[in-house]
Amino acid sequence: MSLESQLNIFGQTTTESITSNFDLIPTLNSIPIPPGTYNSIAQLATHCQICQRCELGKTRTNAVVGRGNEQAPIMIIGEGPGQNEDEQGLPFVGRSGQLLEKILASVKLTIEKDIYICNVVRCRPPENRVPTSAEVAACKPYLLEQIRLVNPKIILLTGATAVKAITGKKEAISKIRGTWIEWEGRSCMPIFHPAYLLRNPEPNVGKPKWLMWQDIQAVRAKLDESAVK
Ligand code: SF4
Repeated sequence: MSLESQLNIFGQTTTESITSNFDLIPTLNSIPIPPGTYNSIAQLATHCQICQRCELGKTRTNAVVGRGNEQAPIMIIGEGPGQNEDEQGLPFVGRSGQLLEKILASVKLTIEKDIYICNVVRCRPPENRVPTSAEVAACKPYLLEQIRLVNPKIILLTGATAVKAITGKKEAISKIRGTWIEWEGRSCMPIFHPAYLLRNPEPNVGKPKWLMWQDIQAVRAKLDESAVK
């Protein structure tokens, strides 16, 4: 799609209007963020740190943009930052993050080399509530820009909020986890959130932890398959 066509989708007709609105992006959610707005994740992060496009900007300590390899073949998208993440400015750094790293290591994947992690919303919802539809919509253009810049082959959607934000699907995560969904030329798989596995630690066949083991092996196989194509 040409740049002009992309601009038309967002009601813009010239690149000049994007340039002139660029500084307003973090202040107003009525200012569009068309594909190609940012040249790098670092540039996008400077806007996120001062962003007030939704109410979550008022209560955050740090905007949590992402971590890992910015050219990774796999992106993991969670719901939103929790307390540890808000304090440190990094996603998945608490107990959930430690478990996620162990799960990835079980199939020889590391965050430094193979993974880029981010969330549907970049600022912590108070009391760790689920982000509202308006908050998800306000933050989604940043997420789409991160996906464009990282350009992963595989996207893992941890939990129902991430699945709905990307695919629009509203099914329970227990129903659609482990299935591949094609989205914008990428292979997406809904998986359990590691926090759910911490609450359901039984390893028996058919339990969430066992199902996650099946899913992460399928992800490893898909990555290996895409590497030989
Ligand atoms: S959650 Fe996203 S849209 Fe809302 S203030 Fe934070 S960075 Fe901006």
